Amino acid sequence: MSIIQMSDALANKIAAGEVVERPSSVVKELVENSIDANSTWIKIDIAEAGLQSIRITDNGDGLSEEDTDKAFLRHATSKIRNETDLFHIRTLGFRGEALASIASVSRLTIKTSQGDSAGTYLSLEGGKVLEKKKSDARKGTEITVEDLFFNTPARLKYMKSLNTELGHVTDLLNRMALSHPEIRFEATHNGKGLFKTSGTGDLLQVISQIYGMNVAKKMLPVKHKTLDFSIEGYIAKPEITRASRAYVSTIINGRYIRNVALTQAILRGYHTLLPIGRSPIVVLAIDMDPILVDVNVHPAKLEVRFSKDRELYAAIERTIKTKFREITLIPELEQKPKLKEKTFQNTLDFDRPIKKDSFEGEGWQENHNVIHEDTGDNTVQWSEIPASDDSGSITEETTPSISGNNEMANVQAQSDLPEEMAKPRVPTLYPIGQLQGTYIMAQNENGLYMVDQHAAQERIKYEFFKEKLGRPTNESQELLLPMTFEFSKQESLFIEEYKEDLEKVGLYLEQFGNQTYIIRSHPNWFPTGFEEEVIREMIDQIMNEEKVNVESIREEAAILMSCKRSIKANHYLNQDEMFRLLEDLRKTTDPFTCPHGRPIIVHFSTYELEKMFKRIM
Ligand code: ADP
Ligand code: MG
Repeated sequence: MSIIQMSDALANKIAAGEVVERPSSVVKELVENSIDANSTWIKIDIAEAGLQSIRITDNGDGLSEEDTDKAFLRHATSKIRNETDLFHIRTLGFRGEALASIASVSRLTIKTSQGDSAGTYLSLEGGKVLEKKKSDARKGTEITVEDLFFNTPARLKYMKSLNTELGHVTDLLNRMALSHPEIRFEATHNGKGLFKTSGTGDLLQVISQIYGMNVAKKMLPVKHKTLDFSIEGYIAKPEITRASRAYVSTIINGRYIRNVALTQAILRGYHTLLPIGRSPIVVLAIDMDPILVDVNVHPAKLEVRFSKDRELYAAIERTIKTKFREITLIPELEQKPKLKEKTFQNTLDFDRPIKKDSFEGEGWQENHNVIHEDTGDNTVQWSEIPASDDSGSITEETTPSISGNNEMANVQAQSDLPEEMAKPRVPTLYPIGQLQGTYIMAQNENGLYMVDQHAAQERIKYEFFKEKLGRPTNESQELLLPMTFEFSKQESLFIEEYKEDLEKVGLYLEQFGNQTYIIRSHPNWFPTGFEEEVIREMIDQIMNEEKVNVESIREEAAILMSCKRSIKANHYLNQDEMFRLLEDLRKTTDPFTCPHGRPIIVHFSTYELEKMFKRIM
């Protein structure tokens, strides 16, 4: 066998295998080119999910006649010149292979002009130029890709149903639009409108155009700047969730990217506020010096690498947590002191009407106004109240941050004020009785409350155990009897690889046979009876995040214990027990959601009750 150098045509086809996986990848590359060309308007028209045709029209810079030819050469780019540029990439493209690759597996035409003189028209088939002529002078570029994969039948065979391919295209366009609110996008499929954004630069408007008004209404703005990163975007209140992670969009320097660790940081920001297995809706645009991000690790540039990844994840988690801390969940809290000053006749004043659409929540909230709003303006479900008024964060923040982060320490110092401690977030509740052995009915001057007794106790125990697990130290405690554990092959590989990290947090695993390990001591804070679960939690964490975070392990352990040791539904409680439970609940830091994110209290205000019975209209 002798070695030959591949022809360009063959090399392009091979490269196309990486860059052009399916119709949505063509749309991605072409739209990115339009964005890089400073377009403010991009039109996407596709037929048969893009397999028949994809046309992208923009009003960007356009190409000169000379450059139009060059653009289809392999490794031809106007975006970088040298190696230094590679580390300062501000454009979406830079590899110079998209046009060559796409052209090599389709029939492609381009019409482009820089607006000052006649434009250029070029048609290619399988990468070979068929025709070249002058075209009109409309500034911008129009590229049409037809019969994708006509000459690579093997690839064509891998295409899924039209619906699946169309799904990929719309998902991609959504993310593109979310990444660039300043660009007007218009998309059609088989002549019918897919979606449109207005290009005003308002991200919330794009969110509303893509996910709908109801979602947009429940998004909270976040903004945070550190020395290295600027984080800005919208996060959904935990009351609206989705089953899939597809609603979490992370954008780095204008580029939509997928990054599990970033998503995980966002989820940690939501903490216990999300129900198990549910994902939030989040759009976060993160800007940083391009030197801090390596975009050259994935042919389609969907994945990136950060040089200050830990700092970034911590900043994101903190940004989200801080936002939720700024918000109280029951506005009555704010009004409670006022209530005391008022005479009893004034109670009705205080129970302001709530807007109809707060009954129209989504998901598990659908059925009732779980903790309804009562704010003056009646437009949001939770009122936004400055953090200093919120007693909600104390227990959480008094636990030391093991990362030794300064900013954390500051937050902690601020919220350590003892008088805040004394202010419970729920007014005293007087039990009326128990419903179906599961819900405590209670009342006070503000109306009727239903409390899920199991969820309430989970919350109480969770905070109790969290406190009890104490400040995590790495001190170990000798065991009277060593314990043995068996792990899967994969788990034991990770244990070996991360042995040092585990020892740093006080866990010494001694291998004893292939996948069996002995421990003779474990960290002091390990909860008795839950050792095995906690160790597995640590291993799981290593497998997912490649590090051990004692803080979050303790969190998991507390949730686990609170859940196992709580009273279940269908358990009779006498008046005293009910009162005690409600009082304990009031004293918790976050009485509104159980550690799994389910609601604990449902409130019917006096006003609502009177309305229901038409005592007032
Ligand atoms: P890259 O984007 O990595 O530079 P491409 O193969 O995608 O490589 O594009 C090659 C070149 O063609 C780009 O560098 C750019 O100069 C030009 N180009 C492609 N699409 C457009 C467009 N819509 N408007 C203006 N120029 C374009
Ligand atoms: Mg490109």
